[in-house]
Amino acid sequence: MAEKKLPFSKKQLDAIIDQYPTPFHIYDEKAIRKNAREFKKAFAWSRGFKEFFAVKACPNPYIMKILQAEGFGADCSSLSELVLAQKTGIVGEEIMFSSNDTPAKEFIKARKLKAIINLDDITHIDYLEKHAGLPDLICFRYNPGPLKKGNFIIGHPEEAKYGFTREQLFEGYRICRDRGVKRFGIHTMVASNELDPNYFVETAEILFNLIVEISHALGIRFEFANLSGGVGIPYRPGQERIDLDAMSRGIKKKYEQIIAANGLAPLKIYTECGRYITGPYGYLVSKVLHIKDTYKKFAGLDACMADLMRPALYGAYHHITVAGKEKLSHDTMYDVTGSLCENNDKFAIDRMLPKLTHGDTLVIHDTGAHGYAMGFNYNGKLRSAELLVREDGSVVQIRRAETVADYLRTLDFKGLSEF
Ligand SMILES: *Cc1c(COP(=O)(O)O)cnc(C)c1O
Repeated sequence: MAEKKLPFSKKQLDAIIDQYPTPFHIYDEKAIRKNAREFKKAFAWSRGFKEFFAVKACPNPYIMKILQAEGFGADCSSLSELVLAQKTGIVGEEIMFSSNDTPAKEFIKARKLKAIINLDDITHIDYLEKHAGLPDLICFRYNPGPLKKGNFIIGHPEEAKYGFTREQLFEGYRICRDRGVKRFGIHTMVASNELDPNYFVETAEILFNLIVEISHALGIRFEFANLSGGVGIPYRPGQERIDLDAMSRGIKKKYEQIIAANGLAPLKIYTECGRYITGPYGYLVSKVLHIKDTYKKFAGLDACMADLMRPALYGAYHHITVAGKEKLSHDTMYDVTGSLCENNDKFAIDRMLPKLTHGDTLVIHDTGAHGYAMGFNYNGKLRSAELLVREDGSVVQIRRAETVADYLRTLDFKGLSEF
């Protein structure tokens, strides 16, 4: 059974906490790099393969820079994410801009950066042309509708707001071809946190078949297929990692049978994973503030759902290790809570843990993606710091914690006196 272990000892953790007060997210650079290399290696057969790290999963320039050094680009979907990529030194076709319901200024920025633009809707062709001009490379996001079942987080494709229908794809590529677009890509994303490799093989098959049909019908050539993100990670102990090699082998087979057999090679394979790339290599470190014993036992932490929203939002499981108490019997049941005035501010419900006391250090696993990133300021809660353990074991702060001054920054108190 896959166990969930910490990459640092209690002693190391205490030394870090001495310097940086809890709560904080801490990322493991060595593990991120190792995983990035393995991910690339799994697709080594595919010439021009590229992963565009989904910035929304962990929008920190230090993490993005590490991934850039490993050969990854950035998948952005907002103006701020585009600027973040630019400031990190990621520009041009190292950026995939996969947005939806997109404001003009975002298209303008994406065009300025010469990013690859992935349109979410057929009406965006005219909108893009009007506001920013059509680029010579264009990608469309496909929504397979009833062809694909979808899953819990992302829902059924037919209900989803994303992407073109099949008919719209043909029409959209035709329009762009006739308006002088020369280079084409296709994209789809229909899963989130999916652990079955076959799901992605099927998705590739659908895209590859479409590429054959559209290329033949319109006489255009596709440069890439973007299989997007959604590759899952084992949040629960006992869950296994996705078999990446099986996934890659399956995609390769479809590539040979469909793309190569129809004379459409070379076609580059792109991905835009977030969770799989950084998820398991981040931890939220927090201390027990209060133990409360009423109808249930509650362990109240100094972190709250502003630091990690997934349990409250999706009922998601995040494993918890009590640093230094790993070996003790997990014989006491707790709801592990934050301090937000929302009863769903709970990191865990009915979780069996060792007996806890004030000051215990709790480490919440798998917060490296969609963790800090989802933070918010509701209830005046301030977002935590982010730390990075370098490969040599040293620790650097890669984002400071918010202060009350940050929270008040958008308010004008001078105006209040004359109000
Ligand atoms: C969220 C998102 C991703 C990344 O999803 P993960 O589940 O983190 O891999 C990739 N592409 C798009 C368009 C997204 O919205």
